Amino acid sequence: MSERFFVESPITGDRAMLVESEAHHLIHVMRASLGVRVVLFDGSGAEFTAEVRKLGRSEVELGVLERRAVDRELQIPLILGIALPKGDRQKWLVEKAVELGISRIVPLRTVHGVAQPVDQALTRLTRSVVEASKQCGRNRLLQLSSPQGWGDYVAAQCDSPWRLVAHPAIRHAASIPSTLPGKLPPHKSPICLAVGPEGGLTSEEIELAVGAGWQLVDLGARILRTETAGIVLAAWVVQRILAHMEH
Ligand code: SAH
Repeated sequence: MSERFFVESPITGDRAMLVESEAHHLIHVMRASLGVRVVLFDGSGAEFTAEVRKLGRSEVELGVLERRAVDRELQIPLILGIALPKGDRQKWLVEKAVELGISRIVPLRTVHGVAQPVDQALTRLTRSVVEASKQCGRNRLLQLSSPQGWGDYVAAQCDSPWRLVAHPAIRHAASIPSTLPGKLPPHKSPICLAVGPEGGLTSEEIELAVGAGWQLVDLGARILRTETAGIVLAAWVVQRILAHMEH
């Protein structure tokens, strides 16, 4: 895949500007010269071939030559509600979630969880979303929602039989293959996932989810870190979506 650059404002005409870190990458890392062609995306689902027209010190003007609708999204939206881990583990989770095609991450406030990120930290994570999307070819950005309470998340409308809470089987013997509904939800109706904090989910939190129709899923005999559990559960669901689409 050729070098991809993210343009924050929607590309509508025949001209686009790169600013800040995207411009820095093109000017100082790629050392691009006039006339060089790159791929742009603006998060709207399309990608664009563009040519460097003007190189400034901190911004680049490009001429847009072609627009292509290139869809690398999952055919069923996947929402991951998760009590975010701390520090670098957040970044790791966001990067892998983008690669897997997750549509939205909802940071969850839970009884045993650490504080969920404030707006400023979410803005930093948005940068990780852009970086991962550049690398993996996604033309739509994963959405990072504001933090939500566990109860609100599990009670929220999600008209899908696929609402899955990762919970170790030590207390609830139900493993992934035996408990899940066979049929995937109708096209475009999302699959919702929920993962607890390092300190685990309380029995009240589990009861809230089960009462609202969520299914508990076990990911094996070992306790996974929150971010690993989120990615393992999502990867398993993604595999099912891909297999389903082939038939
Ligand atoms: N001490 C906690 C461990 C929490 S691990 C406990 O005993 O519950 C953090 C989260 O990752 C859990 O709340 C759960 O959502 C998920 N998780 C970790 N390992 C898992 C496993 N083997 N099966 C299912 N979910 C798991």
